[in-house]
Amino acid sequence: MRSIATFDLQYAHRFYGFQGEAQYLHGHTGILTIEVEDTVNPGVNMVYPCNEIQKVAWSILQNFDHALVLREDDPLLPAILEVYEKQGIKDGAPQNKMKGEAFKTELATAYPDCRLVVTKETMTVEGMIKIVYSLLKDKLNIAKLTFTSGVNAATQEFETQGTKERCPLCGVEIGESGTCPKCGYKK
Ligand SMILES: [Zn+2]
Ligand SMILES: [Zn+2]
Repeated sequence: MRSIATFDLQYAHRFYGFQGEAQYLHGHTGILTIEVEDTVNPGVNMVYPCNEIQKVAWSILQNFDHALVLREDDPLLPAILEVYEKQGIKDGAPQNKMKGEAFKTELATAYPDCRLVVTKETMTVEGMIKIVYSLLKDKLNIAKLTFTSGVNAATQEFETQGTKERCPLCGVEIGESGTCPKCGYKK
C-alpha cells in the first residue's frame, strides 16, 4: 500500500535559452506529491505516518520554497548574486529563518542562506522529479513522484527497494541501531 504526502513550493525560475515565454524570470506554486510504498506496519496500521514523510522531505524541500532556481550557466546567476552581495543578504538575513539543510548532488546545489538552488539542467517539472528523487530516495521508499507547476505536470514511478523496518508504536523507520529515533522503542 502507499502513504501519500503533498507539498506546496513557491519558487521563481526560468528556462534559460528556451524559445518561449518561460525564458523570462517568473514564479509558480509547484505541488509535489510523494507516494511512499511498503507493507502496512501492523503496530500502527500505517505504511508510514504522513506527517513524518512531511518532516523528512520538508527538511530538504524547503530549499525550493520562496527560492530562486537557476541553471548553473544562466547569466542571471552572477547578476543576482552581485545584487544580493551589495544588499548584504547573500550570506543570510536575520529574517531568513525557514531554511532547509544545504545539499549538493550531481543535479543541484542548494544555498539556503540566500534561498537559491543552482541546477545542472533546466528546472522543468521533469527536472524537479529527477532532483527530488536523488535527494530523497535513501530516506523514503518512494514509489511515485508527481510535480505540477502551472499547466505543466509530470509523474514518474520508481521500483521500491524492499521493506523498511518501522517502529510498531509510532511508525517511523528504525535505523541500524534497532532503537526508534522518535519514541525510543527498542526491538
Ligand atoms: Zn515556469
Ligand atoms: Zn517509535
